[in-house]
Amino acid sequence: MAEKKKEDLMEKIVSLAKRRGFIFQSSEIYGGLNSCWDYGPVGIELKRNVKDAWWDFMVHRRDDVEGLDCSILMAPQVWEASGHLKNFTDPLVDCKECKKRWRQDKLEDPTKCPDCGGELTEARNFNLMFKTFMGPVEDSGAVIYMRPETAQGMFVNFKNVQISSRQKPPFGIAQMGKSFRNEITPGNFTFRTREFEQMEMEFFIPPEEDEKWYEYWKETRKNWYLMYGMREDHLRLREHEKSELAHYAKACADVEFLYPWGWDELEGIANRTNFDLNTHQEHSGKDLTYYNEQTKERYLPYVIEPAAGADRTTLAFLIDAYDEEVKENGETRVVLHFHPKLAPVKVAVFPLMKKDGLDELAHKIENDLRESFTTFYDQSGAIGRRYARQDEIGTPFCVTVDYDSKTEGTVTLRLRDSMEQKRVKIEDLEKVIREEIKNWKRV
Ligand code: ATP
Repeated sequence: MAEKKKEDLMEKIVSLAKRRGFIFQSSEIYGGLNSCWDYGPVGIELKRNVKDAWWDFMVHRRDDVEGLDCSILMAPQVWEASGHLKNFTDPLVDCKECKKRWRQDKLEDPTKCPDCGGELTEARNFNLMFKTFMGPVEDSGAVIYMRPETAQGMFVNFKNVQISSRQKPPFGIAQMGKSFRNEITPGNFTFRTREFEQMEMEFFIPPEEDEKWYEYWKETRKNWYLMYGMREDHLRLREHEKSELAHYAKACADVEFLYPWGWDELEGIANRTNFDLNTHQEHSGKDLTYYNEQTKERYLPYVIEPAAGADRTTLAFLIDAYDEEVKENGETRVVLHFHPKLAPVKVAVFPLMKKDGLDELAHKIENDLRESFTTFYDQSGAIGRRYARQDEIGTPFCVTVDYDSKTEGTVTLRLRDSMEQKRVKIEDLEKVIREEIKNWKRV
């Protein structure tokens, strides 16, 4: 029964996402492209807000992190040096009966097909990088890869950024952008896809400080999700077993979220040691060490990496925000309790009637608020219906303009979470909304 409920929740979220314009299947009119998704008008606002919140926290509010935006296509030597050509593989197995393909390390019983119970083939290592060709000739010399992570861009630009920004370790380089992995078993909506966006930061430190900074970034990154309203009992940190560690990592922990299918990764925080700078130094022949003028020491910095996914984070915020409340009249209210800073629309403005100048006044109020917030104007249907439409996309504030607005200069401000309604002077609206955003807490 509980399992069924969880499945229902995912179905409801996928259907709401499509109906209200959060997320559509890619190339839907051609039957869809497996594991690729498009963000609709409301979804793109949510995802941009998630990315802005990450950038604001990781770059703008810190003196010790610099931003970067690298090209997706990089010199093929990068992937040889990083170990991706050799090691970025998953064990692929086929079912001898139904011919389905599986990732062996994700199976409970690695010998049996989870669908039909048939016998599985021996595992073959399958490289997850997408290959393409650069230039007009499709020969082996023109092979190039779509980056499977944004991290390598930060390592190969370490010196460029360090020298141009005059930073000294400890300092970080952050970037977000598309990555591509030819996943064997994509699924769970946008949780695991073949094209996705990452938000990664490489924090370069003196080697002896690695444990301190590893602890710092684990806590700091977990707290970021809480700051943006994620429920504490839906988040946890899980330290990796030694056997789970990637070839470059000394330690790794995941921030995990309680998805409808159970606890699963949201973000990874890894101690990558000086593996990456070291290997790029060896392969490129360029000196990537840092010279400390004060101590007269030269060293290769260690790296602590918090690596998150923009799509996975957006999905987790969407799932966590989803709520159904049964109203007194027995109707169900679907509401998304987003943090106001993440909500696609902040303020919706409704004229009670689309006549007698109420519509004009509502348009003017909306236009004035647009300077500070993302807004939406709606004059169709009963006010209750209009509130319900905004609840479904998580709009935290609705403003209704009525006849008293014309004579007294006040409007009704309705709060999404408490459904409280209060009368506010038109000239105070922006200030009151700002205050509400500042004081918002997840209920
Ligand atoms: P997994 O074990 O789930 O395959 P990973 O540990 O290989 O992920 P990392 O290489 O640490 O993932 O990537 C950092 C982040 O990038 C992940 O925490 C996740 O948020 C995101 N990410 C990685 N692969 C995918 C994917 N296929 N689809 C969507 N997001 C992804």
